[in-house]
Amino acid sequence: MNAIFKGIGASPGIAMGSALVLESHHLMVNRRTLKPDRLEAEVKRFRHAITAARKELEILSLRVEEKMGEKLSHIFDAHILILDDRSFAAGTEEHIRREHVNAEWGVRTVVKDLLAQFAAIDDPYLNERGGDLEDVYRRVLGHLTGDRSHPDLSRIREDAIIVAHTLTPSDTAALNTQSVVGFVTELGGRTSHTAIIANALEIPAVVGLHGLLEKVETGDLLVVDGERGTVLVAPDAGEKETAIRARTAWRQRAQDGLKTRDLPAVTTDGEVVILRSNIELPEEVETSLRYGAIGVGLYRSEFLFLKCSPNLPSEEDHYQVYAEMADRVAPHPCIVRTLDLGGEKYFHEVLDKEEANPVMGMRAIRLCLRRPDIFRTQLRGILRAAVGRSIQIMFPLISGVGELVRALEVLNKVRDELRQEGHAIPENIPIGIMIEVPSAAMVADLLASRVDFFSIGTNDLIQYLLAIDRGNESVAYLYEPHHPAVLRMLQRVILAARDAGISVSLCGEMASDPRYVPVLMGLGLRELSLNPVTIPAVKDAIRSTHAGEARTLTDRLLAASSADEVGRILAGEPGAADPVDSSPEA
Ligand code: PEP
Ligand code: MG
Repeated sequence: MNAIFKGIGASPGIAMGSALVLESHHLMVNRRTLKPDRLEAEVKRFRHAITAARKELEILSLRVEEKMGEKLSHIFDAHILILDDRSFAAGTEEHIRREHVNAEWGVRTVVKDLLAQFAAIDDPYLNERGGDLEDVYRRVLGHLTGDRSHPDLSRIREDAIIVAHTLTPSDTAALNTQSVVGFVTELGGRTSHTAIIANALEIPAVVGLHGLLEKVETGDLLVVDGERGTVLVAPDAGEKETAIRARTAWRQRAQDGLKTRDLPAVTTDGEVVILRSNIELPEEVETSLRYGAIGVGLYRSEFLFLKCSPNLPSEEDHYQVYAEMADRVAPHPCIVRTLDLGGEKYFHEVLDKEEANPVMGMRAIRLCLRRPDIFRTQLRGILRAAVGRSIQIMFPLISGVGELVRALEVLNKVRDELRQEGHAIPENIPIGIMIEVPSAAMVADLLASRVDFFSIGTNDLIQYLLAIDRGNESVAYLYEPHHPAVLRMLQRVILAARDAGISVSLCGEMASDPRYVPVLMGLGLRELSLNPVTIPAVKDAIRSTHAGEARTLTDRLLAASSADEVGRILAGEPGAADPVDSSPEA
């Protein structure tokens, strides 16, 4: 049955291949009571399992180092350290002897205790390491029980898309990149280890696909779109063809990207455009540099909160992450957007109750003003990191002057506080806001005189302006970046920024689509922030655009009466098929 699933894009790219479903690996462990004279033999059996697991991990670490570099192989070195840790190995042996139980039960009890301790520590890094401990536990248990039911992924021969409830870091890293072309999981978020490894391997991946295992069987043909976060099951002939074309374009883009890395983004009539990157994870700075981004235009700092969940990041967490990112992209700037939680990025630990309409609810700057403790911790981290570094602050979802003034008051208080405590603070840190609420766009002139820059967030601006939930598949056909209302609103904001003499960029997904390059150039934008892997294609489009001609074209677009008409003009063929398809799906 042909079906499409929407999850979270964890690693970009398009993959087509046959599903290899990994059965959910439930670890059933029974307690057995042993006679005293059996205990030493049981301890010996446990030690054998540890030795076998260590050998396996050493091989895995070498293999990963060869394939993916030293940094990722350290994950497995860390697993070996867990095996050697006193509380793990000696703790289990003690438990076997003291409680007269089998090794499986002994290790289970010890791991359960350790996991609870990990979860209670106020250190996000250690919290995340709980996943590593579980991974080591599964490995040891596999050796104890002889149950190695996860197939050896490195032996898979054909184009396979791994479908699993969840994948451990070992499973993911052991992927044979020649034959595994993608993977999809029911659990997981963008910040999981699995997602990080998938990105490093540049294998398309989608996570967070709840209920997928019920609908997919081994052998089903799948199309994975790691950018959109979709998985298409059993595509028809037309969909297959589209997927193949998209895959070819993606592969080509990756190749070309490296070629154009050092070329400037400049129009044919000499207008220079700055292309910065949007990132969610500090690790993505690497990709960003590889594709030649001029700094980070949008760091979605809420991902730091999700990563630290259920704890909140400390001031030190903030400081470390921002300082490290800024150092790596120097001399270019790193723009940190303050927390944009809520909406679709729901975070239970901060929001006290579920909301009927969270996208219009307590999110982003509203949440920060409601919870100044969280906001101030973040601002302290940013301000401290900005000493001697090119860091800029950006507030999300500002809806008008009142809200901006309140946010600036908090910022000024934090500045004073740091000064009084004897901290150095940056002399001049640029402050900007996202323009992503129509009311902010309407009063852009009033806002422009109070900040140093605007960054237009079209993802939200379009959803609020056109009343289209950006996450709702059934109205997705109405989500039209080229709607004349959107173009007029962009024009209004850009002119307000220009009149006030502040810089303006665009950081929504619209900036990643090469088809919109002439429009954005024509509207006068000279700074974009986008997903780093899309930089090459957008740069190419810029390098073949004439800014003067784009202005004339945009004048026509601004006078168009519908998105369809804009689409036809953009295609250069009035009356021809709309290249930016805006019709409802059948
Ligand atoms: C936007 O709304 O365009 C934007 C860049 O922010 P986010 O996608 O994180 O909401
Ligand atoms: Mg937004």
